[in-house]
Amino acid sequence: EIWKSFVPDPNLLFKNQDLIPLGLNRNDEIKEYRQQHLGKSLSLHYDRPLHIVRGSGQYLIDSFGRKYLDTVNNVAHVGHENYEVVKAGQQQMALLNTNTRYLHKTIVELTEALLETLPSELSVVHFVNSGSEANDLALRMAREATGSEVVIASEIGYHGNTSATIDVSSYKFDGKGGKGSPGSTYVFPLTDSFRGKYRGENTKEQYLKEVEETIENIKSENKQIGALILEPILSCGGQVELPQGFLRNLYQLIRNEGGVCISDEVQTGCGRVGKTFWGFELHGVIPDIVTIGKPFGNGHPVAAVVCTKKIAERFANGMEYFNTFGGNPVSCAIALEVLKTIRRENLQQQALEVGEYLKTQLKELACEFPILADIRGQGFFLGVELTDKDLHPLHEQTKYFVVRMKEHGILMNIDGKDGNVLKIKPPMVFSLQDADYLLLYLKKVLQEDFMNLKLIENEN
Ligand code: PMP
Repeated sequence: EIWKSFVPDPNLLFKNQDLIPLGLNRNDEIKEYRQQHLGKSLSLHYDRPLHIVRGSGQYLIDSFGRKYLDTVNNVAHVGHENYEVVKAGQQQMALLNTNTRYLHKTIVELTEALLETLPSELSVVHFVNSGSEANDLALRMAREATGSEVVIASEIGYHGNTSATIDVSSYKFDGKGGKGSPGSTYVFPLTDSFRGKYRGENTKEQYLKEVEETIENIKSENKQIGALILEPILSCGGQVELPQGFLRNLYQLIRNEGGVCISDEVQTGCGRVGKTFWGFELHGVIPDIVTIGKPFGNGHPVAAVVCTKKIAERFANGMEYFNTFGGNPVSCAIALEVLKTIRRENLQQQALEVGEYLKTQLKELACEFPILADIRGQGFFLGVELTDKDLHPLHEQTKYFVVRMKEHGILMNIDGKDGNVLKIKPPMVFSLQDADYLLLYLKKVLQEDFMNLKLIENEN
């Protein structure tokens, strides 16, 4: 409110026609129009939604000119409206944008740059336009390679919005409006060693046993396994890490049955997890197919599927694969600049160092405020789970947190089965100072009565 009183018309400073002088609140009009004419299944953040008109680095700016620190957006990977990325797109856009049926060097340069980041076994690329499309194509490839539609996936896994990807996404088919698992998808329990089916340090064998039972179940129905699709850290599950050694043994189990292993790197890829460029590398495995989305175009819709030669050859069965927009020169120029920027600006290292710092500090904060019951994740892919002392999820408190943080100019997001996990996955330019700023306000909100565990427990 103070800021608004200083700057009644933000255009005096920022010169952006979308900025709104106070009093002219078009936000209500926009909201109203959306409700009338856009699909009802689209959601908005916050009861009083933000009208964002500008992005810059790790910040978003609303229509009143207020700046917010963004701890959520893992799409604006190298920073909102990164200058070099915008320039690369604009320059190519002014020259040419066509489909891949003409020769053009951008697609080759991008493929080369992408393959450099991957193990040599993964050597064939198909470009698409979204994470959903990438997973959809990966599932088609697996089906073609194995002759089977059967997919093994995790509880609360999310892999996209197309029919085929919803069918392998327990987050959707087991969630609101979902109709349960289709006959071809078999789900194993979320490997959550904090509040999952099996808890504690050594849960690997127990979760593997669940998968073994699932495989036996599939075989007893005279079916064969087509694919495993899994994220290396489960995002919608609430940044849930896999037990040590789990993925290696899991891949072995799938491969023993002739199945194909798909690593969904839509959220975890491109250096975000800090220690490695891809999430699967944290586990010392090599998938048969990797899917890449969100960060790849820094906001521009470009995504990719990378697979082994063997799978690519099985997929090329004579039917042409044509994708009007996939791999066009503009998308390729943008994605190439994203990969170059990650390297040039050492952003993987930044995710490692700042992410580690943030995680350590959060753990310290958790000693002081036990409502922060579990701190987990890697690099800039962290989760903070809120529970009471009996491990009951505190959804209302988590929601309150997010609203109060917004009032302090910090954007945060919630996920997890019970909506009680704060997800931290900022643009990779998020600095040590930003981490300190975030911690300062986290602590401030934690001191408020609504977050006080003793008061919560008395009330219960
Ligand atoms: N896989 C994962 C793990 C995701 O988080 C998402 C999007 N949240 C997708 C796939 C689908 O990507 P898109 O929304 O770009 O289609």
